[in-house]
Amino acid sequence: MKLIDSHAHLSDLAEVGKVVERAKRVGISAIIAVGANLRTCRSTLALSEDFPKYVYPALGIHPTEWYTEDVEESLRFVEERVGNCVAVGEIGLDYWDRESRKSEAVQEKQREIYVRQLRIARENGKPVSIHGRGAWSDALNLAKEEDIEKAVFHWYSGPLDVLIELLDSGYFISATPAAEFSRDHRAALAKAPLEKILIETDSPVSYHGAPSEPADLVRTLRALAELKEVSIKEAARMTTLNSEKFFDLS
Ligand SMILES: [Zn+2]
Repeated sequence: MKLIDSHAHLSDLAEVGKVVERAKRVGISAIIAVGANLRTCRSTLALSEDFPKYVYPALGIHPTEWYTEDVEESLRFVEERVGNCVAVGEIGLDYWDRESRKSEAVQEKQREIYVRQLRIARENGKPVSIHGRGAWSDALNLAKEEDIEKAVFHWYSGPLDVLIELLDSGYFISATPAAEFSRDHRAALAKAPLEKILIETDSPVSYHGAPSEPADLVRTLRALAELKEVSIKEAARMTTLNSEKFFDLS
């Protein structure tokens, strides 16, 4: 069995060498490591050099990670290094975040930063990994307006009508270990066809327990297989194929 963790914050994990060993032991053949700010973009690139052909980097500025940094410098970093990446991410919008909840100006700035990164992706022919908490519809509409061809709405747990529009636009969603218990996430995964689903861990996010790591991808896989009523082997085969095509891994 071959698996791909399509979204992990590997640079936020300790002892990455051991994390990678444990990932290999459960059958993970590649990890897409995402950046979220300047610091993690830098360390994500470094990790991809430490683990070539295993850790593949995605660079991006997360919607809630630019408040305390020079966002122009961060965006420049993403733009200059995007050629070394398999995707632009994690980017997006987050209207539930405390800062953006209380300020329309923060939401507006999130949209600006998101759109600028969508353009970086489009101009460089890269897919995007999108965070859309509380803002799924805006995140989708802006991706469509910017003519984004390949997008994955990571950990999708938004409204089902937005999901249908997203799927009609040819976009993907990804499943996390929250597929075990989150009602909204499970509803989305039940509705989307397996051909449009990637699997991931979003590690080190914790799911009712210790911080996760890529090896926890087997939890995502098991929960998804059960939801879709297919064998674990079939869920693994399909989602790995989806990720290989999405990120153009050869
Ligand atoms: Zn993430």
